[in-house]
Amino acid sequence: MQNARNPNTQSLKIEGIKDIIAVASGKGGVGKSTTAVNLAVSLAKRCQLKVGLLDADIYGPSIPLMMRLQGKPELSNDRKMIPIESYGVKCISIGSLVDEREAIVWRGPMVMKALEQLTRGVDWGILDVLVVDMPPGTGDAQISISQRLQLSGGLIVSTPQDVALLDARRGVKMFSKVNVPILGILENMSYFKCPKCNESSYIFGQGGARKTAEEMGLKFLGEIPLEVEIRSGSDEGVPIVMSKPDSVISQVYGDVAERV
Ligand code: ADP
Repeated sequence: MQNARNPNTQSLKIEGIKDIIAVASGKGGVGKSTTAVNLAVSLAKRCQLKVGLLDADIYGPSIPLMMRLQGKPELSNDRKMIPIESYGVKCISIGSLVDEREAIVWRGPMVMKALEQLTRGVDWGILDVLVVDMPPGTGDAQISISQRLQLSGGLIVSTPQDVALLDARRGVKMFSKVNVPILGILENMSYFKCPKCNESSYIFGQGGARKTAEEMGLKFLGEIPLEVEIRSGSDEGVPIVMSKPDSVISQVYGDVAERV
């Protein structure tokens, strides 16, 4: 990891975990979880790191589906949850702990309580990096998580659409407020390449995230197109970096993994 650790004091930092990276977005549905999954698998497979993936998205935990996690985590002798390993990544999801319909109304302190169990209450072992799939948005829950997890860095995912970019700016401000270094902005759903005529259509506008990153003095981490195989892979629990490791898309995720 290139970034210095954030010197927050009150933390949930866990022994044995070198760096914690949060994947965040200003709003839901922009591809935050998809990014977290493909980044975590790339860090494990391509960068050969020991990687964990923590699904902290209380409003819609999708890691169990996207990583094809079966069953519930077992407990170790000292009553800690043992992460479920998939594609070389140790995974824990808030979906294993709470009822989504209940969690949706939770505020910061409740989220932190659940998160405490998901960090300290888990037998993570030794990890080079823990990727955290954050809840979407920039409210108290996200601020508490960012503060308490002692993040090494935060990565923002946005579509090129104006409204999403406005929310992404809020995400950047949120991390800055709690002194978390921002690793950069990754643009998702950048364009759609027609499989018949090969022409690219910029459905949500073109170049928005790159421009926002430049304006804010942040790294622009790349463009991920709208691609049927990303969606179907998510639904089937096979991340695209596993099903199509040599594709241009997997290359972008791999580059992001190497840059963070
Ligand atoms: P978020 O975590 O921001 O709510 P998700 O990662 O869950 O978003 O993505 C929302 C939906 O969009 C999922 O069904 C996912 O498979 C799909 N999706 C995300 N990125 C892409 C993409 N680049 N191309 C096609 N589908 C995508």
